[in-house]
Amino acid sequence: MRRIYSKALMIVAMLGIFSVSVPAQKDRKIKVLIIDGQNNHDNWPQTSKMMKGWLEATGLFTVDIATTPSHGGSMEGFKPDFEQYKAVVMNYNGDAWPQSTKEAFEKYMRSGGGMVSVHAADNAFPEWVEYNKMIGLGGWGGRNEKDGPYVYYDSTGKILRDNSSGVGGSHGTFHAFRIDIRDKDHPITRGVPDSWMHNKDELYDRLRGPAEHMTILASAYSAKEERGTGRDEPIMMVISYGKGRIFHTTLGHANESQQCTGFITFLQRGVEWVATGKVTQPLPKDFPGKDEVRVRK
Ligand code: ZN
Repeated sequence: MRRIYSKALMIVAMLGIFSVSVPAQKDRKIKVLIIDGQNNHDNWPQTSKMMKGWLEATGLFTVDIATTPSHGGSMEGFKPDFEQYKAVVMNYNGDAWPQSTKEAFEKYMRSGGGMVSVHAADNAFPEWVEYNKMIGLGGWGGRNEKDGPYVYYDSTGKILRDNSSGVGGSHGTFHAFRIDIRDKDHPITRGVPDSWMHNKDELYDRLRGPAEHMTILASAYSAKEERGTGRDEPIMMVISYGKGRIFHTTLGHANESQQCTGFITFLQRGVEWVATGKVTQPLPKDFPGKDEVRVRK
């Protein structure tokens, strides 16, 4: 009996059909939740759909969308099951969540969850202390010196934490601008060109917040001619919160901003990194050049 069994095994091995036991690819995909429903950007239904599409196009993710009631509606029933997901993408800037939902999200993040903050998600929840630790830096919503320092680069490339008083969050004109990679050794930035042109967007400046456990991955020069600050502002960051990982991109104002292949690449890589701690995706062939914007429709 034993001999017959091992013979059968040998035949199976020779035929190379051991792969039958590998689970279907579908089961291995990383589960991602996009949260939307309120935003000062009216295009949020389109950007959620676009981001879901960009993420699923990698073959790595399955994406659900949780939509809150509209502004002023009862939030009591808004209780996503965060624990089901490896990453939560915040496309939300609106009413406060119920206390129990906030606590569930904090627990999820502290115990190793993943979060990606996109554009105006760093305007959200000015009063929620733990959320502000997760995003590192934020703007608007009455943020000022009570919320933490301004963080930006001086002319020698040194990061400054500036405790001077003043409002947090502003931006100049809507324009295309160059992104400079500041940390080339992070899994999200590895292999990305040192500088690349981002399609038209708002260049957030004067952000401020606790900025703890935060690494700036990329900055952009906020030109005075574009009504900016005249300094290099943080554009993309990673933050750790307990065992959780956060990728924060300030980019993504308009649909055309999110069609930039640079935005898309960082979104795809950022979600994979917060979910797994690794990035397996190669740099796409249509990544923007130093002076050349590239978009995908
Ligand atoms: Zn905007």
